[in-house]
Amino acid sequence: MAVFGTSWRVARIAGIEVRIDSSWAVIALLITYSMYLRTSVLYPELEGGGAVALGILATGLFFGSVLVHELAHALVAQARGIRVQDITLFLFGGATRAKVESRGPGDEFWIALVGPLTSALLAGLFGILAGLGGDLLSRALVGTLGYLAWTNLLLAGFNLVPGFPLDGGRLLRSAIWKATGSLGRATRIASLSGQGVGWLLVAAGVAFLLAGDLAGGIWFAFIGWFLVQAARSSYQDLQLQQLLGGVEAEEVMAADLVRIPPQLSLQQAVDDYFMVYDHSGFPVEEGGRTIGLLTLRGPAGAQGAVADPSGPGPHGPPR
Ligand SMILES: [Zn+2]
Repeated sequence: MAVFGTSWRVARIAGIEVRIDSSWAVIALLITYSMYLRTSVLYPELEGGGAVALGILATGLFFGSVLVHELAHALVAQARGIRVQDITLFLFGGATRAKVESRGPGDEFWIALVGPLTSALLAGLFGILAGLGGDLLSRALVGTLGYLAWTNLLLAGFNLVPGFPLDGGRLLRSAIWKATGSLGRATRIASLSGQGVGWLLVAAGVAFLLAGDLAGGIWFAFIGWFLVQAARSSYQDLQLQQLLGGVEAEEVMAADLVRIPPQLSLQQAVDDYFMVYDHSGFPVEEGGRTIGLLTLRGPAGAQGAVADPSGPGPHGPPR
């Protein structure tokens, strides 16, 4: 998504690159601080250090849950033969980059569904741990586990909202795609629905602001605005892909090839070819066979010329 700035690779899990976007640092600090506030208010029996440690543990488990949600998407995509580019944790959670719409609606359906399912499973797991730990663990630890159960349930529920690019929006898109056979129409409807959900969140943010909840208001408006932008740009991306996908290389390639013999000196190549023709590269031919590509690179001119026997072919400007 377009919000990504600088990101760092932090891990590789099952062959999938996990990255952290710079925007994530902001939310990680905010959540750690709010988790600390929550623990220190709810469990005054904890010493100062205890509340900090529990706050950090809760934040770690929260982001761990987000990562497991994303890994579920990525692993199902891989299992269905779709290459996963990477997983990035950023300001609003996580994102898995894979061309899920590259094939049929079935792939997108299962890849999208497994995310909220995993969050619901995690909610159950934390709930069970909180229940079992009642006698063994401290009140603060049990309370934190219960809180994580609710957070994961909320994550599952929010992701099921049918607005693209949320998982629910992807489910909606796959269903319309299946019904109409048109990925374009399905994406347009799911994107409009995503923009609608985004504007609703913005409206909710304004309502919170008017009610005097500054932090909640800003946060909801911010998420809503992000969703509107993401929904809009994912439809535009698809339009661009379909546009480029419909053009064949033959239609834009330079067809008037001028070939260079391999014995030509670079000085001659510059004087007789690069200065004469409007091409940035020339195939080098010997005995009717292309053996390389001579291109100009950088202001150094012919000094930067390279012969690349595996080159893709001439890349002169389209005419
Ligand atoms: Zn998801």
